[in-house]
Amino acid sequence: MARVSLKNICKKYGNDITAVKGINLEVADKEFVVFVGPSGCGKSTTLRMIAGLEDISSGEISLDDRIINDVPPKNRDIAMVFQNYALYPHMTVYENLAFALKLRRFPAKEIERRVMEAADILGLNRSGMLKRKPKELSGGERQRVAVGRSIVRKPKVFLFDEPLSNLDAKLRLQMRREIHKLHNRLQCTMIYVTHDQVEALTLGDRIVVMKGGEILQVADPVGLYEKPSNTFVAGFIGSPPMNFLKGRIVEEDDDLYFQERGIKLRLLPQHYAKVASLKSKEVVFGIRPEDIYDKIFAQDARPEFTITATVEVVEPMGSEIFLYLNAGKNSFVARVTNQDTATVNQDLQIVFDMSKAHFFDPDTEKALV
Ligand code: ADP
Repeated sequence: MARVSLKNICKKYGNDITAVKGINLEVADKEFVVFVGPSGCGKSTTLRMIAGLEDISSGEISLDDRIINDVPPKNRDIAMVFQNYALYPHMTVYENLAFALKLRRFPAKEIERRVMEAADILGLNRSGMLKRKPKELSGGERQRVAVGRSIVRKPKVFLFDEPLSNLDAKLRLQMRREIHKLHNRLQCTMIYVTHDQVEALTLGDRIVVMKGGEILQVADPVGLYEKPSNTFVAGFIGSPPMNFLKGRIVEEDDDLYFQERGIKLRLLPQHYAKVASLKSKEVVFGIRPEDIYDKIFAQDARPEFTITATVEVVEPMGSEIFLYLNAGKNSFVARVTNQDTATVNQDLQIVFDMSKAHFFDPDTEKALV
């Protein structure tokens, strides 16, 4: 069992900087939780507090039912993998893997057994790798040794602080899959920090989106994508990000419309309760690029869901095309099939899948639910 519980955790640096502003989170046993957010939002600080590498200014951290605020890092049963690997340069791979166990005076036989087991899991026992020094390894191999050092300890919880940031794009994908497999194999609690939303979506059972020292939303990958609770999360998750169009909700012949110069789209009955308080007021209408179609390829091209937009940029991506469009005051991007032949400056009939529409309060930026 390894549950991690954060209660009202705050971190202040001096009097001026509050890096973490009273966060609450329960991480379940065996769960893979990813903290994601822009640089400086407090992800690493939170992880370091869980590891015991930073004091907590206020609040309570528990591992299972034990409060660990004052337990030194080495006694927490928590292992951390760092972005810069933190390997000992003068030691071989074997010695790096064995080091923490030697320090804890494990019997030699047990050390060897655990090191070989970790080396097996991570593919580090090939071609004399265990005898090499870190400088004789590639970036990916060093990262594996860093992960191996935490595995040998058989901790209750693994913490990863941007472990793949120093790897090139291809290796990052490969290591991402390996970390996924590792979680499946070890079946243990993992908490992972990244600024990369794709990494977060692909790895996490649950994702914690942070901004400015606060948690904005906690959800599984599909929940986060389909039901972002505010414009920040909606814009942070997904690439290209969700489009935000500004306009008003207007009523006409018992129907409601989202309207702005050059745009008029009929709302569906399921939206009515959401926007009720904003009738004839400003609203932010959110729609993902894949939910906007060139009329030629649209399944349901009713005129009340269709507008005319001017093509500003055509960006072919191979499997699909990004069309950057403009209508009145609003610009937005559509992700369309690579069979689309739209050209720059063309006026195009564009269809919105209104069943995928999101609405946000322009003042609070919160989703209208
Ligand atoms: P992230 O991991 O999300 O990039 P951090 O947790 O590293 O963010 O930092 C959160 C905030 O705390 C930032 O504004 C950062 O500048 C500040 N901070 C981090 N460490 C220190 C420190 N030792 N002293 C002062 N401020 C710090």
